[in-house]
Amino acid sequence: MAQSLSGSRYELHVTRQGAKETKSQDYYTIHAGDLEEAVDAGDEIVGHVHSWEVGSTVDGPGLRFVAFLTGCFLRCQYCHNPDTWHKHNGRPVTVARAMQEIKKYAQVLKISKGGVTISGGEPMVQKPFIMQIFRRCKELGLHTCIDTAGRLGERMTDEDLSYIDLHLLDIKSGDPVIYEQLTRQPLQPTLDYARRLSDLGRPMWVRFVLVPGLTDGFDNVEKVAEVCAGLKSLERVEILRFHQMGKDKWEQLGLDYPLKDVEPPSPELTERVRGQFRSRGLTVY
Ligand code: SF4
Repeated sequence: MAQSLSGSRYELHVTRQGAKETKSQDYYTIHAGDLEEAVDAGDEIVGHVHSWEVGSTVDGPGLRFVAFLTGCFLRCQYCHNPDTWHKHNGRPVTVARAMQEIKKYAQVLKISKGGVTISGGEPMVQKPFIMQIFRRCKELGLHTCIDTAGRLGERMTDEDLSYIDLHLLDIKSGDPVIYEQLTRQPLQPTLDYARRLSDLGRPMWVRFVLVPGLTDGFDNVEKVAEVCAGLKSLERVEILRFHQMGKDKWEQLGLDYPLKDVEPPSPELTERVRGQFRSRGLTVY
């Protein structure tokens, strides 16, 4: 059984296998292990987990148990956790073990009107694992939430979505060129997924990371705001201000951090961007 994981999301957990991968720019490659989906074997499905954190108040409503999984298709220039890009950088944990940990906090999560959030990396890389967790959380009466960029939304069936109470959906840019420059992946799958959630009436909070010189252009923000304005089940937009907390990890992994000289957005810029969303009647945090 895997040992218990704990600690801040900014801690580094890199296994020997993961560390080996870091010795070249091959680290940017999507490895075969990141593509494969686990076989659905109930409680014995093994997920790859970077860490988990109890008591977060920023990853959904109330107090949250947050599981950070490894594996991601995107390569965001501002990624705080590049050590989550490769699935095998995580520790193997069975569904049964994860539920044992979640159950310890079930009461307090319910009392606070909180629940369980699965984040990453990109949780949909490990779809069978996360769906087993979500189903079991619903049996316990817990609120469930996924933090996703939506790139792999096609993997999710409508039935899967019925077990997820809230999506934290990252829309990193509204412009396909900027999105690809930022993430190395196309924008369209995320837009398709957002539209699908809207059509199905699945609640979502959109997250937009504001990076000076990269995502802050007036027209780019207008495009994201326009997408948001068309989403019927959108409850709020969260503007996340860029910060430098991920810088050390890039250095520890031997990667050249492209945003090392970028300052956080000024209060004026942040207000301008919030205003662009508010002008469409959206609730903005
Ligand atoms: S989607 Fe998240 S985990 Fe993946 S590269 Fe982007 S910021 Fe990092």
